[in-house]
Amino acid sequence: MDIKYSLKRSKKRKKTISLQIGSHSDITVYAPYFTPVAEISRFVEEKRNWIERTLRNQSRQMSVLKEKTYETGEEFYYLGRPYPLKAGFDPLENTGVLFRLDRFMLNCPDNGEMKKYYFTLWYQKKAKEHIPARVAHFSRELNLWPRGVRITSARSRWGSCSQDNSLAFSFRLIMAPPQVIDYVVVHELMHMRQKNHSSKFWRLVIEAMPDFTEHRRWLRKHQEMLKF
Ligand SMILES: [Zn+2]
Repeated sequence: MDIKYSLKRSKKRKKTISLQIGSHSDITVYAPYFTPVAEISRFVEEKRNWIERTLRNQSRQMSVLKEKTYETGEEFYYLGRPYPLKAGFDPLENTGVLFRLDRFMLNCPDNGEMKKYYFTLWYQKKAKEHIPARVAHFSRELNLWPRGVRITSARSRWGSCSQDNSLAFSFRLIMAPPQVIDYVVVHELMHMRQKNHSSKFWRLVIEAMPDFTEHRRWLRKHQEMLKF
């Protein structure tokens, strides 16, 4: 594969050549003004493996996050991993989504709204099984007992804690890895003790979950999932 990139030469730059891949798979190479082209090509060639790996990951991410068409081969997240879909319609079988042998099966007439409805239904069911159980687990561990737990269709946030300590979680959270779900659960439970994001609040979170920052990062990186 020929690696295409745009070259930015700078008189201010002293020695190093560097390379950046933008969010639209655009590659930019920054080089000192008088660097010979051969040297730049060599530099890019040395980075080939890394570039190809990064572009592959990016295109995979994009295809997972772009507007769904619910066609065979499309990938859907469940507990932090993407799984391929096999879509079809057999009127003699039950309509809806099945998850079996690491793939999603959708039996539904060819109608976008209907397909989305069945997927939403399936995610909601899984979220209702998984998330309240994790809340119960951490309630015991932290001795924090919420007034109630609801699974909502919120698109603006993954979880919330009301003034009267009712917790709510978006069903979309079930697309995240189990540790990330646990982080959101712990986060909302801690709001029962601290109704803000003060340093006191974050100290409570870090006490309960020392590696929470990587989970928070995952959520930030995957905000688009809330648009599902
Ligand atoms: Zn919060």
